[in-house]
Amino acid sequence: MYLKDVVESDVTEEMGAEMAGSSRIDDCVRQRTLKTPVSCTGVGLHSGVNVTLNLTPASPDTGVIFHRVDIDKKNNTVPATWDRVVDTRMCTAIGNDDGVTVGTIEHLMAALAGCGIDNACVELDGPEVPIMDGSSEPFVLLIESAGVVEQSAPRRVIRILKTVNVKVNDGQATLMPADQPSLNVEIDFDSAFISKQALSMGLVNGSFCKELARARTFGFLHEVEQMRAAGLAKGGSLDNAVVVSQDGVLNDGGLRFDDEFVRHKMLDAVGDLFLAGGHIIGQFSGISSGHAVNNALLRALFADSEAWTVDVMTSAEAATAVDGGLGAEPVSALA
Ligand SMILES: [Zn+2]
Repeated sequence: MYLKDVVESDVTEEMGAEMAGSSRIDDCVRQRTLKTPVSCTGVGLHSGVNVTLNLTPASPDTGVIFHRVDIDKKNNTVPATWDRVVDTRMCTAIGNDDGVTVGTIEHLMAALAGCGIDNACVELDGPEVPIMDGSSEPFVLLIESAGVVEQSAPRRVIRILKTVNVKVNDGQATLMPADQPSLNVEIDFDSAFISKQALSMGLVNGSFCKELARARTFGFLHEVEQMRAAGLAKGGSLDNAVVVSQDGVLNDGGLRFDDEFVRHKMLDAVGDLFLAGGHIIGQFSGISSGHAVNNALLRALFADSEAWTVDVMTSAEAATAVDGGLGAEPVSALA
């Protein structure tokens, strides 16, 4: 069962009854979208193709929806949900029943999640989201420049009720009940320049934008050479990824954070978890986790109907609502 189905059946009826008899609608955290459309252009990391991205406002309960505007003979719409994930090897890619896919969505999804955007449409004229500088910061700046507006509908969140754990190869991840969204991530690479790093963070008070958004994707020089030989990572360069060799970081200027690697893994988790279809209220823990583990975790969560529930956020929880530290204008005509 999908979040949208649940929302339309249970929660809306329940809320409708409550709203008719009380002022709960005035006592909640509201959904948010962009104030105006905004766009950017950049290269796709894997395809090497230049892509223009238009990020536009969307009505309440839309979630995040991708449209491939370069495709017109098939269904070109792909909702950003966990059950649409078709590839997790190099990035997170989603696809629809017509075989239309969108790749490398995770850094944009992380920016939308971290800025507390509930609803947005993403138009692309190519097969993947532009990699920009390899982090979420360019997308955060886009969202800031577009502005954020509150919508009339209450924010619906997925509350974790029961601990769910998955293991995939050497990685594992857990979601457990918590009062606010938080993450713990540990990595352990066989490299003197990365080795063990661990980070714990609450995803509140704008922490995503301050602490995670600037962390770039990374790779090892020998892997980059292998990918290039296989025709992958065609758009990859030192302008959009940290590249680590046996001698250290190849990028001029070095790292943006001493622990940029684990911060980027946490950024990826924020983006991948937003494929739940809404903001998760719970604690994520990942050990050597990546896109495959993150998606397996959501599949395990939604396979167990006792492990989660869809609920609205009350105003008492406003301090723990993810907003990226971005203020929102009150309810707009879009609402
Ligand atoms: Zn990433």
